[in-house]
Amino acid sequence: MNQVLIVEDDPFLLSSLTQLLEANNFTVTGANNAKDGFTHIAEQCPDLLILDLGLPDEDGVSLCRRIRMKWTFPILMLTSRSDLLDKIIGLEVGADDYMTKPFEPRELLARIRACLRRTTEYKPEESDAEQIRSGPLVLDLKQRSATIDEQKIALTALEFRLLHYFAVNAGRVLEREQLFESVWGYDDEFNSNSLDVFVYRLRSKLERASGRKAIHTLRGFGYRFGFED
Ligand code: CA
Repeated sequence: MNQVLIVEDDPFLLSSLTQLLEANNFTVTGANNAKDGFTHIAEQCPDLLILDLGLPDEDGVSLCRRIRMKWTFPILMLTSRSDLLDKIIGLEVGADDYMTKPFEPRELLARIRACLRRTTEYKPEESDAEQIRSGPLVLDLKQRSATIDEQKIALTALEFRLLHYFAVNAGRVLEREQLFESVWGYDDEFNSNSLDVFVYRLRSKLERASGRKAIHTLRGFGYRFGFED
């Protein structure tokens, strides 16, 4: 049974989400502020976190950033603001997906399952390959870790999956929608903003670690992966 932590200060929403998830065979723990949420994570790492953006003691964005320094489990953000900027910031600091309140319970369940599926059922296409190399990058598929010039880079599960797809297809031109479908595996629509944010985030991490450009944008079409000499 999957363990879900909900950090949400609205008591009504917290209890209705708890009921919804328990009725769908999740084990649920709730916290109504950032401090308790963080303490719980440190004690017992959940399989997935539902995180409200507006908390009384700390902004969800800042909490998300702190969590990402140590943990990679999927984070689904809840926002009551329809402001696109908030969502993009949420994804930039390491959330895997977001939902705007009010939302359909069915849609929330579908997003939770998609997040968990990407993390737990993720298997590399080449099952006998243990490592993939591309320039200074080494991906260890067993440990799901990435190193550049032997320095480990911290990646979330989705970022690792994206980087893996890029590395397997190094040198090839990858169309945006094809990339999205292969990595996200969403049954629903192509999400252009989400793709942009994840590519941006991964590109920054790779450039910071290697000092080289690795993800090249082909404007209006897609990307090509490969470290510049
Ligand atoms: Ca709130």
